[in-house]
Amino acid sequence: MIPDGIEERHLSLAIKYIEKNGVPEARKSVHYDYLFNEKRYPPKLVISLAAKYAFGEEIPSVDFNAVRARDYLRARGHVVIDRRDEALNDIVSDDDESSFPEGKLKFQKHYARERDSSITRKAKAKRLAETGKLSCDVCSFDFLDAYGELGHGFIEAHHMLPVSELTGSTKTKIKDLALVCSNCHRMLHRQKKVISISKLKSIMNFA
Ligand SMILES: [Zn+2]
Ligand SMILES: [Zn+2]
Repeated sequence: MIPDGIEERHLSLAIKYIEKNGVPEARKSVHYDYLFNEKRYPPKLVISLAAKYAFGEEIPSVDFNAVRARDYLRARGHVVIDRRDEALNDIVSDDDESSFPEGKLKFQKHYARERDSSITRKAKAKRLAETGKLSCDVCSFDFLDAYGELGHGFIEAHHMLPVSELTGSTKTKIKDLALVCSNCHRMLHRQKKVISISKLKSIMNFA
């Protein structure tokens, strides 16, 4: 139970106290942040300290939980952020092809060119013959090294020409294809505009 009688000024005093003394490790909040002057505080700690200013002692921790603290503050017009909701906003959908400026069709065409067509097989075979292995052009990951026999002969082909320059009649050439691991391949396509091999290398500090 959170007792009646905690006023705004008690909350302010609690904030001041936290500002001065910090938040003890054991009293950090897991899910919720009380937003006050654009800074974040653990709701339970704020309320418990506010109670100390109102009644002379803190509320025992077992007497109320984080959800109660959240509801208490929200009911009084305060902003309490649920960190899980925030995290959800950070996870962007990767399969939303409609976000591609070139449109869904061109995007599919791009991928179609990278599938196991004869030209991508030739590119992989050429690389294998020349270097004796199939390692990622960005990070050097080698499926055979990592997965043993299961990974033998596996690598993905990535078409380096921008989607916008591809027309139906453009023939894919071996030199247009980079060979990359699945992780790097996803990252190359992560943004609306396909990023270059050298750019991804520099992001990974391999350049
Ligand atoms: Zn890679
Ligand atoms: Zn690709």
